Amino acid sequence: MELHGIHHITAITADARANLDFYVRVLGLRFVKKTVNFDDPTAYHLYFGDDTGSPGSILTFFEYPGVPAGRAGEGMIHRISWRVNSEEALGFWDDRLRAQGLRAEREQGRLRFHDPEGLGLELMVPAGSEAAQPRLAATSSGVPAEFALGGFAGVRAYAREPRGSAAALEQTLGFTTIDGGGVDWRIAGGGRSATYAYDPAPAPVPLSGAGTVHHIAWGVRDDEQRAWRRRVVEGELHATQIIDRTYFRSVYFREPSGVLFELATLGPGFAVDEPVERLGQELRLPPQHEYLRPRLERLLAPLDVPERRAA
Ligand code: ZN
Repeated sequence: MELHGIHHITAITADARANLDFYVRVLGLRFVKKTVNFDDPTAYHLYFGDDTGSPGSILTFFEYPGVPAGRAGEGMIHRISWRVNSEEALGFWDDRLRAQGLRAEREQGRLRFHDPEGLGLELMVPAGSEAAQPRLAATSSGVPAEFALGGFAGVRAYAREPRGSAAALEQTLGFTTIDGGGVDWRIAGGGRSATYAYDPAPAPVPLSGAGTVHHIAWGVRDDEQRAWRRRVVEGELHATQIIDRTYFRSVYFREPSGVLFELATLGPGFAVDEPVERLGQELRLPPQHEYLRPRLERLLAPLDVPERRAA
């Protein structure tokens, strides 16, 4: 069994409208699902990704309107990295972000910046065989196709004792070490790979809030999820039961450094309750929350979902 790279990453926003504007208009992702947090249905759960909502491209946000800014610390992911095609693409994004009043730091092969709520982001040009995997890009009126974000490259997290995670990552989950020192990891399977790296945790107490990552999900084949859950339990990690998230099924646990992991199935995907060409247009609710629709439609801020150009 292999983990199929990153399935999705979920973060927190205080402002769904501004969040959608940034990730769709500025970064050029497609808005692929407007739904609610299944565990707290009064909160939006917004999904962004490529043209079809492929696993490996999905960044999601829970909206808690007006929630104070968080602070990434020990046991939290603090930077999300996407693949782009070329140094020329980094130049395009450097200019585009500056035009939005955002500062970006360019170095060889990468561009680092923060979203308007302070979430750490990065674009990187993969080298060698890493560059070969299929791009997971969205069609956007503002971003030329050759510069589009091409799916996740990896994440960086804060840990105090990263070596404490080595056994779980390596033996239970099948990560491979890049540096031999328990700090830089790689996961590959099903034609996708991603990196998972630790940085020394800053001293201040971590604070969940706007602009922080909630969890990361790794992709698993639908028919292997039970076996994955067993393996996680046998690895003495405390896994939840398998939970139906409509678009995938999930198991959650914390890895030893404290980062919340999810194993999410590749199927059935985001077209299970609306056609691909209409993804994100309507508020979609799981059956157990459908009775709340009139209340939620009053409560949740209306969003301006951009019309899609015909591809
Ligand atoms: Zn998730």
